Amino acid sequence: MLFTDLKLSEPILKAITDQGYTTPSPVQAQAIPFILEGRDMLAGAQTGTGKTAGFTLPMLEILSRTKNTKGPRHIRVLILTPTRELAAQVGESVKTYGKYLPYKSAVVFGGVGIQPQITTLRNGVDILIATPGRLLDHMSQGTVDLRNVEMLILDEADRMLDMGFIKDIRRVISILPQKRQNLLFSATYSDEIKTLCESILRNPAIVEVARRNTSSELVTQKVILVDCAKKSALFGHLVKENKWEQVLVFTRTKHQANKLSEYLQKIGVSSAAIHGNKSQAARTKALADFKNGSVKILVATDIAARGLDIDQLPHVVNLELPNIAEDYVHRIGRTGRAGNEGEAISLVCVDEYDYLKGIERLINRKLDREVIPGFEPDPSIMAMPIMQGRGGGGGRGNSGGGQSPSGKPQGQKRDSSSRRSEGNRSEGRSNSQRREGSGRGR
Ligand code: AMP
Repeated sequence: MLFTDLKLSEPILKAITDQGYTTPSPVQAQAIPFILEGRDMLAGAQTGTGKTAGFTLPMLEILSRTKNTKGPRHIRVLILTPTRELAAQVGESVKTYGKYLPYKSAVVFGGVGIQPQITTLRNGVDILIATPGRLLDHMSQGTVDLRNVEMLILDEADRMLDMGFIKDIRRVISILPQKRQNLLFSATYSDEIKTLCESILRNPAIVEVARRNTSSELVTQKVILVDCAKKSALFGHLVKENKWEQVLVFTRTKHQANKLSEYLQKIGVSSAAIHGNKSQAARTKALADFKNGSVKILVATDIAARGLDIDQLPHVVNLELPNIAEDYVHRIGRTGRAGNEGEAISLVCVDEYDYLKGIERLINRKLDREVIPGFEPDPSIMAMPIMQGRGGGGGRGNSGGGQSPSGKPQGQKRDSSSRRSEGNRSEGRSNSQRREGSGRGR
């Protein structure tokens, strides 16, 4: 199938051609015809599948087929996203694919001044991309008019629910016109998502492209076993040895992200850290520098990285495994995107074996383990619980302790509920995540 088979009009096809795309990705091939029929839709698609174009292209087509009959320019399409970064990226896609069409779009999110957004909204936009928190701010100030919305798109709906936005979403929906088309994109189907779908989607077409919680087959995944204290040095070694030019590295905490970034700069490797304590301007700059190659290594926490769209990212490294197994799948989704091959490497120390097990259970596969000469793990080091309080870089001070003959961790059982609450503390998930997503506290 080609894009030209999809009943998209000339200005949209031309914009697609400009991007160099000829073949729709699976989610695009499946979703676009349903959306053009005016159906509500539930799409199970992860980031990296081309889902953004999957809704942006038919949305633009529908706008261009139906004339605005309601007077001056007003918001006809509302797209909600969990994070600022994703909002900005969706905004870019709308601009890219709509460049030969007369529609105006705007992106509103928190963490930046509200006044310029108010001016933009007052001047009139057709397509609004927003994070829920800032949109509510505009609603309460009466600076946004959503009474004529014809299409609602919830992007990464599962993430929005994870981040505690359900009430905000419901408040937004309550003021939208009853008659509208609804599209909901989600990588996972929790009971919460099902309930949301039942309440807003009418007879939805269902499209599912990537199996849930399966990690991309184009991504080579492996584990390198190493002591916690040697991870930064090993990472620096890998970058230099393999001459890596562009690597996204994940840490569990902001503290660790800063520490690694500082270490890399010290050994002469350009790097930047991106996390919830950084201003929006700093995050945008770090991402731009990383994309244009002036910074080789971008160190990110899970929350900051959500929604990052970086084309053809060759390497993703987990300096630390995430404490929530699903985050592993999201992390490695940053490589091997849209048909490109990628490599995901996890540096795992003895403290993290439980996390590793949880991840392998989730992806239903055992990852290959390797040891790098000069960085062999010391078998006498025993596992310690991972502490993730404020500024905690992982809880391990100087490791001591007795031998575990199998090299396996002893004791320190953490059940999944306590692990999750640790996770909640790691970057203040809930509150800070909420803040990062919407930036409501201006
Ligand atoms: P997404 O899943 O929307 O984040 O998209 C992942 C990446 O795939 C983005 O960088 C898009 O620019 C790219 N992309 C989207 N559609 C296509 C396509 N049909 N062919 C090739 N690349 C695409």
